[in-house]
Amino acid sequence: MTDEFTTTVYYDEDAEESYIEDKTVAVLGYGSQGHAHAQNLDDSGVDVIVGLREGSSSRPEAEADGLEVATPDVATEQADTVVMLIPDTVQPAVYEAIKDGLDEGDTLQFAHGFNIHYGQIEPPEHVDVTMVAPKSPGHLVRRTYKRGEGTPGLLAVYQDATGQAHEEGLAYAEAIGCTRAGVIETTFREETETDLFGEQAVLCGGVTEMVKAGFETLVDAGYAPEMAYFECLNELKLIVDLMYEGGHMEMWNSVSDTAEYGGLTRGEDVIDREGMEEILEGVQSGEFAREWISENQANRPAYRQYRGAEQNHQIEEVGERLRELFEWGEQE
Ligand code: NAD
Ligand code: MG
Ligand code: MG
Ligand code: MG
Ligand code: MG
Repeated sequence: MTDEFTTTVYYDEDAEESYIEDKTVAVLGYGSQGHAHAQNLDDSGVDVIVGLREGSSSRPEAEADGLEVATPDVATEQADTVVMLIPDTVQPAVYEAIKDGLDEGDTLQFAHGFNIHYGQIEPPEHVDVTMVAPKSPGHLVRRTYKRGEGTPGLLAVYQDATGQAHEEGLAYAEAIGCTRAGVIETTFREETETDLFGEQAVLCGGVTEMVKAGFETLVDAGYAPEMAYFECLNELKLIVDLMYEGGHMEMWNSVSDTAEYGGLTRGEDVIDREGMEEILEGVQSGEFAREWISENQANRPAYRQYRGAEQNHQIEEVGERLRELFEWGEQE
């Protein structure tokens, strides 16, 4: 355990495998996270049943990987710990089908807090409710585990019926490899709200809107779309790679002094901090969650419209042509 961070970080020596090694774990879903958790648990000696619908296209895959497969309700009946690794939007419906199999002292575990935090799933008081969330896509959770390494993860306890929810969550995190890299203590609220804010304001929404706005500004002023694509989209990867490796200073040190001075003095002009605060308020108040839930109930009319507009944006057509020119670059 280290406290040099502002939050607590756990490692292998903090986890006690006895809290998970005798348990049967039902992993519901065999997608990005599901296949990685199930195989890592299995390799760590934990009994695993993969829960999938009859006729699910993931079934042959899980069976080929040597895992036992049952329907989600049967897997839950047999398990002590049930992990929801299906898409967040389908979890509430699947929960209805499995909830009767949750016995006193069982654990219901998540990899994202949305459905618990916004009340879409309301588990009975007699079960532990936890979250073990690798901060990484599933294929890296699997690949790093096989190398004897791991990906960092989050641990949160929402409901502790047994008094052992924290220990079991940590043991699970160890069994999938996360304590090798470090597991950060958080809460369902913090994980859910920071995740939604990050993807809306910065990672997915903020970045794409900034790229499009930059591209349009140049094209509208008469510059070649190809030039605008390179400057505003293609080069973004080089910049982000530097930030990822060594923070902002590594990036500033690597670009020219002209780029550094121009960026430091002008960058702030494109940021709308009040807009960011409004996004955070919409997440905190549950307004975004309510909108997304009713959007799904209505079969996603707005989602489809936004997606269509994104597909038809000029930057997509220019990019498709230009990316063909440097396909050779991918083969290194
Ligand atoms: P995914 O989209 O890869 O999951 C697909 C799986 O769910 C498949 O096995 C599919 O058969 C099953 N599935 C789909 N619809 C179903 C239904 N109606 N009934 C039963 N099974 C169904 O999911 P994922 O990306 O692995 O996400 C799982 C959870 O992990 C989510 O809560 C997500 O927020 C969280 N998470 C994901 C990542 C990531 O990188 N993908 C990272 C951290 C946390
Ligand atoms: Mg240990
Ligand atoms: Mg059970
Ligand atoms: Mg997210
Ligand atoms: Mg340049």
